[in-house]
Amino acid sequence: MSKSVREKLNEGYYDNKEKYPKMENFNKCLECDNKMGKEDLFCSKCGTKKDTAPKEAYDAQMKKYRDGENERYQKFKEDALEEVGLKGHETESRAWSKAWDDGHSSGMSDVLSHLEELSYVILGY
Ligand SMILES: [Zn+2]
Repeated sequence: MSKSVREKLNEGYYDNKEKYPKMENFNKCLECDNKMGKEDLFCSKCGTKKDTAPKEAYDAQMKKYRDGENERYQKFKEDALEEVGLKGHETESRAWSKAWDDGHSSGMSDVLSHLEELSYVILGY
């Protein structure tokens, strides 16, 4: 039997695998720990060269993080709607919006709870 959406949530299946970037992880010289300027390719203290400027590397990680957020949202949305039986139902987008609005500040688990309640009201099971 396949796992429920709640089980997958608890196991971290919908977690973002990309970390939210911190500038301090990108603007440090790997040789001398000097803090480099965001646009600098060369360390002002020891002259070591980076392949990518700190800001560019930071932005690239931010993009990966945002893509990860989008991907986990889409995956969770599809799976949750499918599981509660509202995928393709005429109320699908309204039910999703309401469950998301009411629950997402507390996390995906609450969104799922709201969606389960709504599907019970709408579908009767
Ligand atoms: Zn340095």
